[in-house]
Amino acid sequence: MIASPVQSSVSPDLPRDLRLLLIEDSEDDALLIVHELKANGYACKWQRVETGDDLKEALSASTWDVITADYNMPQFNALQALLIVKESALDIPFIIVSGKIGEELAVAAMKAGAHDYVKKDNLSRLIPAIAREMRDAEERRGRKEAVKALRTQFEQISTIFDSMHALVYVADMDDYSLLFFNKFGTQGEELIGRKCHEVVHSGMSSPCGFCTNDKLVKDGEPLPPYIWEYENSATGRWYQCIDRAIRWTDGRLVRMEIAVDITERKAMEQLKEEMLSAVSHEMRTPLTAILGFTDYLMSEDVPKDQLKSCLGTIYKETERLDELIGNFLELQRLKARVEQNSFRAVPVQDLLLTATEIYRNASRQHEIVVDCAPNLPPIRGVAEQLHEVLTNLISNAIKYSPDGGTVLVTASQDDQFVTFCVKDEGIGIPRDVIDKIFDKFYRVDNTDRRKVGGTGLGLTLVREIVAEHGGRVWVESAQDKGSAFFFAIPVYHEVPTPAMS
Ligand code: ADP
Repeated sequence: MIASPVQSSVSPDLPRDLRLLLIEDSEDDALLIVHELKANGYACKWQRVETGDDLKEALSASTWDVITADYNMPQFNALQALLIVKESALDIPFIIVSGKIGEELAVAAMKAGAHDYVKKDNLSRLIPAIAREMRDAEERRGRKEAVKALRTQFEQISTIFDSMHALVYVADMDDYSLLFFNKFGTQGEELIGRKCHEVVHSGMSSPCGFCTNDKLVKDGEPLPPYIWEYENSATGRWYQCIDRAIRWTDGRLVRMEIAVDITERKAMEQLKEEMLSAVSHEMRTPLTAILGFTDYLMSEDVPKDQLKSCLGTIYKETERLDELIGNFLELQRLKARVEQNSFRAVPVQDLLLTATEIYRNASRQHEIVVDCAPNLPPIRGVAEQLHEVLTNLISNAIKYSPDGGTVLVTASQDDQFVTFCVKDEGIGIPRDVIDKIFDKFYRVDNTDRRKVGGTGLGLTLVREIVAEHGGRVWVESAQDKGSAFFFAIPVYHEVPTPAMS
């Protein structure tokens, strides 16, 4: 039986219209609890339940500020009620209001998740208990929301960092362990805690000799960003790194690095450097000849036949210069763009016929034979570029067969690729230089070949174009027997096929 309500002071923390859920088998006791609240100035909206099902229904139907529960009822008890509240994942203060409750039971109830217990004969404790538990619940809610907001913010920032086309990481400056690592270049593996040199520099077991930590801090204060470039020795890719010491969440100074992949830019720079060196080496030879001969022609009265021969040399050297510049610019243009979007279905037979047509009457000594397998599928590429590949190979086949012969141009299907072959009966390529002939400016240096004009860029262009098309190029050759240049290009599909490795 409940003791009569005791007048107590109004707690400023309780909402005036408290939503109270009573788990109570006695209507009278429920009314007394409600009366206690009302007597203290709280209008309260309340509901009484006495079974598990009723409790579940009440929890899902309304929002509650507090739950009070009798400890033992005929069909239900406070521990079962606690379980149901726990399962609902609602954080509602749960106070046991019971007649007889021994210390042991009270402890068991608190362990099970009850927030407090109040004896029915001491109801004056109820209001401060409710007030305190509601305040605590509010604080818990606030903390939960703050954590959630923080997590959302972290996820947003991580999404931004993960979508950057750059590596961003933060590492401890003393033990080099990673504190943050964006997803750039990772396969989703967990990297936090691992050493930065191990992860960033492909498995190095000790700190990098070029670690910039000492350039980031002076007298305990962060210095301005340190910007530098480096080449990853394992992957061969170049990065521009922006390193800076920043204050981590716990106040210590840590190293942050943003590394942007500049491999393509580096390649362009290298190409420009090569262009300069080409100007000084490769282009100088024809220019010197042109200058020398024009100077000679201008200063001397030259007999007509000699004049013709001099002009012939000037013309040939100018042509060579023109070809050199043309090839070089084409190579540079090719490097500067990704042509993937302009790939179309290219019919193989048309490609072969247009490319060979140009050379059909170029030489009486050479016969050009085309052998194209029937019903070949179209290949995926840019017709003009593939045309350039074929014409370069055919013109080489003619150039390097000074005694003439057959130039056989074939195409056949090889699984998901169409393989082309340009075969000649010319001078062939010495075995020891065969690996170099696709290198820029490389020309096999022997008297026979030097008689033939060239720039050493044709095969480089061939290799670059074929690579852009996801294919590969190779050569089989025997000195004085002839050469066969092959290149394979992926068959055209609506959905692009993976590149040949
Ligand atoms: P270029 O022909 O302008 O010298 P390329 O890059 O086309 O430059 O070829 C590089 C070198 O490879 C040539 O200088 C030549 O020595 C060799 N080469 C290319 N094609 C053939 C071929 N069909 N037969 C023999 N040697 C060849």
